[in-house]
Amino acid sequence: MFTRRSAIAALGIGIAGVTVLADAREAPGYDDPDDLYAALRDQPVERIVLPGGEIALVFADGAPGLDRDRVRAWVRDGADAVTRYFGRFPVEHYGLLVIAEDGDKVGHATTFGYAGSATRIHVGRFADRPAFARDWVLTHEMLHAALPDLPRRALWLQEGNATYVEPIARARAGYLAASDVWRQSLAGMPKGEPGPNDGGMDGTKSWARLYWGGATFWLQAEIDIARASAGRHSLQDAMREINRQSGGNNTDWTPEQLMAAGDTATGTDALSRLYARFAGERVATDLDALFASLGVADRDGQVRFDDAAPLAALRRDLTRRARRLA
Ligand SMILES: [Zn+2]
Repeated sequence: MFTRRSAIAALGIGIAGVTVLADAREAPGYDDPDDLYAALRDQPVERIVLPGGEIALVFADGAPGLDRDRVRAWVRDGADAVTRYFGRFPVEHYGLLVIAEDGDKVGHATTFGYAGSATRIHVGRFADRPAFARDWVLTHEMLHAALPDLPRRALWLQEGNATYVEPIARARAGYLAASDVWRQSLAGMPKGEPGPNDGGMDGTKSWARLYWGGATFWLQAEIDIARASAGRHSLQDAMREINRQSGGNNTDWTPEQLMAAGDTATGTDALSRLYARFAGERVATDLDALFASLGVADRDGQVRFDDAAPLAALRRDLTRRARRLA
């Protein structure tokens, strides 16, 4: 049930301190993903060609009231961030249905894979340029499209991955400051820590655990890969390999397959080992120690960096500007 039709939604509450409210009453239609695929098939399409793939952009029913140029520029920026991270646009064919709604921000979005990679996203008619520049949702959804679909028990891996990688990809493209990347992690990751009665991550349903507990897993994976490969590899190498082997979210994989594919890229077993631990047993992370090792701290609301910290170089590399490809 979940594997073929599973949907990954950006709930958008709490991440980056931005509250995005989805209001289905304002956007009739397209709740059924079959209607999304029909719209991508039957309505006028604008094609955005990128290295590695293309986006089929559809303004649902013409999306009356939306500034199309602004939307196109925002789609290109999101694609640019994921393209730089993966070295190419990670999906050969990606459908994007933009639905106009009331409001002044980017709203709720959901990504599907069972009939081709596709995202449905709601956009406020009064969203201005800063609102689009602040948006993280579209990049988050494109990151979901880049990885194979997983069974429901592993939803935390998918949400955690998009939560962890999205600010990094945007920073590497120059759309987000490094201090903002770490401000979000400092504020968010503690929310994802297990409570006294929590077990392993597989099957977790708690919002904070899915997003921020999952993000902590991927940050730990980043560190474990760097350590196990003596600094020769990063999570990005694993992500690129997983993307290339799977082709994105219209393929169903197991989490074990995903970890094994990532590990082949780094010549380590870092991902498989970490996954086995987080999935099956309660893992509490000493986040204060972890952030200290990276040289990141919150001092009265300001993010401070310590370049003498043992993993300071890794931290700097994570947000280093990457070459523009498209
Ligand atoms: Zn998501």
